[in-house]
Amino acid sequence: MTKDLYEILGVSEGCSPDELRKAYRELAKKNHPDANPDDPAAEERFKRISDAYDILGNPEKRQQYDLMRQRGHDPFSGDGGGQGFGDLSDILRSMFGGGGSGSFGGGRPASRGTSQVEIEIPFTTAAKGGTVQRTLRLPVTCSDCGGAGGSGRDTCASCGGAGRVSSGQGFFSTMHPCANCGGRGYTLKEKCSTCRGTGEIQSNEKVSLRIPPGASNGTTLRTSIGGNTVLVRLRVKSDRFFTRQGRDLLCSVEISAAQAVLGTSLMVRTLDGKVKLKIKPGTQPGTVLRMRGKGVVHNGVTGDQLVTVVVKLPEELSDEQRALWTKVKEAGN
Ligand SMILES: [Zn+2]
Ligand SMILES: [Zn+2]
Repeated sequence: MTKDLYEILGVSEGCSPDELRKAYRELAKKNHPDANPDDPAAEERFKRISDAYDILGNPEKRQQYDLMRQRGHDPFSGDGGGQGFGDLSDILRSMFGGGGSGSFGGGRPASRGTSQVEIEIPFTTAAKGGTVQRTLRLPVTCSDCGGAGGSGRDTCASCGGAGRVSSGQGFFSTMHPCANCGGRGYTLKEKCSTCRGTGEIQSNEKVSLRIPPGASNGTTLRTSIGGNTVLVRLRVKSDRFFTRQGRDLLCSVEISAAQAVLGTSLMVRTLDGKVKLKIKPGTQPGTVLRMRGKGVVHNGVTGDQLVTVVVKLPEELSDEQRALWTKVKEAGN
């Protein structure tokens, strides 16, 4: 499999933008996944073709790519052959930046695209890792039309069957799914009434998700549900006791003045249940005690639990307490 963008599109290096567009449209139409339901490799080929056209169809990006090629910095050579094309879009992304699914990751029909959902998980599940069960509302293939969206196909007039159009100017132009046909490359003569031509319906799907230890707000998990890729973004609930600072867990405990002066020991909540914490005599208010190894494990490194000692002074005293505090005062310490 070649990784040369010109070879992918089957054009010569000096071809005109018109020749390029024509070659792209023909190849995209021929390799469109919907036109090749029995050929699983078609989708990969379609993606490669789209990625190649993303670069070569844009004058600035094409110039940059040509320069790289001339200098011999061919980023696509030496892959060891075989199935190397899977990383093509990664290389392009690193060359040209960007990376939303609209720019290089696209090329698939919108109806088979990636869905995104957000779920809320408990603080401790995020910190320790674990499994959560959720029912998610997700698009699944419409069973009434088998995902076709209806019957009878007309080649889309907007994109000429490619399913993708470019927008924007110069370097910032990007390819994205054609709005007229939803990225399919064709429009339907008769729409399926169940899915209104989209080929998919919303369905409640029960899913079990493995949360990695040290997950935090915004951590996104990629999972596959019913053949669709689903990106699950995590929102971590706050905890009444803990807050997170990287791998460390922060919390505070309250002790009395006498406990601070004389020392004490407390049972303190950790991720693994309650653990005894010794408070030395003469511990000052605001002292931070470190419970080693009681933090969050992330990438094999474990954090600590940092406990701030809050000293609560009595606001009202009984007669007996007043007498005792007076004695302490007179003792002069
Ligand atoms: Zn179209
Ligand atoms: Zn349908």
